[in-house]
Parts: sequence; structure tokens; C-alpha cells
Amino acid sequence: RVSESGVTITFDRVSFSYDQQENVLEGINFQLQPGKVLGLLGRTGSGKTTLARLLFRLYDPGAGSIRLNDVDIREMALSDLREQVGMVTQDVQLFQASVRDNLTFFKQQVSDAHIEQVLKELDLWQWVEQLPEGLDTRLAAGGQSLSAGEAQLLAFARVFLKNPGLVVLDEASSRLDPATEHLLEQAVDRLLQQRTGIVIAHRLQTVQRADEIMILEDGRIVEYGARVAL
Ligand code: ATP
Repeated sequence: RVSESGVTITFDRVSFSYDQQENVLEGINFQLQPGKVLGLLGRTGSGKTTLARLLFRLYDPGAGSIRLNDVDIREMALSDLREQVGMVTQDVQLFQASVRDNLTFFKQQVSDAHIEQVLKELDLWQWVEQLPEGLDTRLAAGGQSLSAGEAQLLAFARVFLKNPGLVVLDEASSRLDPATEHLLEQAVDRLLQQRTGIVIAHRLQTVQRADEIMILEDGRIVEYGARVAL
């Protein structure tokens, strides 16, 4: 199953406040065409994570609208929206459940063969094989038993299994060992192929994958345009 070449995302004068007082995002306006990758930059607290959360509808905007392929995401069933949007965040949420259920979000119809293939492509299959019960091994909530690199790779595996048209990626900013870094770099490359992407980039290499760059400052867009090769 190959995903289509991605979806169109539109932010139409989106503002948002966590406390109904101060806007954390203010008048965010942009459109990203299918298959394009937007690199989101800005200091800590500038609103990058909040923008990503709005796309996944963890919150609704206080003003304006967000559309996927011209459908307001508030009009979509939450389950449909989350089928179309894959998220990889820095704090990977794991459930107290089997590795399989953690990967498929409890969807029964995903075959073990497919899971094995995806994990092999991420070099995670040996990790599963050394677990006492393989894919049936239960993980502890919070994922204490996983390294940061393994947790991010699992998050990538989830997205590959879901195969959404849009990926939102907040890559790990902490230093990982070089082998894991390399695996993650390759995973990001494959993930952004033929999908629309929004990446909160902490590495120069990731910024270089972006077609467009947006810089946020205090919740406003201060720079937006095609990435210029340096
Ligand atoms: P970082 O690079 O540190 O992740 P960011 O650019 O992603 O920062 P946000 O996390 O979106 O920034 O935060 C934007 C503003 O919103 C900050 O002032 C932050 O304190 C505030 N904020 C973030 N999450 C919440 C929340 N759940 N409740 C209240 N305020 C929040």
C-alpha cells in the first residue's frame, strides 16, 4: 500500500489561546500543497508544538479554520482525521499493552507480516526478536524500558503502518548514538516521500529536506517562503 502523494493543508487566519487570554498563535495563514514539506522553526515557546497539536485536533482554534483537502477538520470524525495525520512527537506515548497493539493502535486487521516488514526496514526487528514474547510482549506505560532512539523508531513504525497522507514530525532534539541517528535520518527521508509533511526541525539536515520554511515568533509568522539553498 503506497500512500497518495499527500493532502493539501490550509490554515486560514488561525488563532489560539490556552487560557482565553493570551494568544499563543495569532493569524496563522498558509497553504501547503500535496507532497510538500514545511520546516517549522522558531525559538522555544514560539508556538510550533501548538500548531502541530491543532492539526491533530488536540485543541480547536479559537478563530479561523484548518482544512485538509478543503474540509474543515472540525467537520471530520476525529478517527478519520487521525487516520490521515501521522504524528511523531518527542515524547512517544506508549500504552500498557503488547508491542503489536502499541504499533497498530489495537487494529486487528494489520498482519504480522506487515508489521515485521516495517520493523525490519527500521532495523527494529532484532529488538522484537529478543523480547521474551516477541510482538506479544507487554510494554510498560511510559516506555521506561525503551531507549529514546527505540521509542522514536517505534513512533515511526506506527506512522508507516498507518500510511497517512500527512505527517507531523517533531524530531528528537537530544543526541542519540550515531547508528540510531542514521536510522532515524533514513526513516525521515522515507516518511516524507510522497507525503505532505510539517517538521519541527532541530537538525540542519531536516531543515534541508523542507521545500518551504516558516519562522514563528511569539505565535506569529515572521518569515515564510521557499527554502533557499545555502
Ligand atoms: P519548544 O520549541 O520549546 O517545544 P514551541 O515553539 O513548540 O516550543 P509551544 O510548546 O507551542 O512552543 O508553546 C507556545 C506557548 O504556549 C508557550 O508560551 C507555552 O508556555 C504555552 N503552552 C504550551 N502548551 C501549553 C499548555 N498545555 N497549557 C498552557 N500553555 C501552554
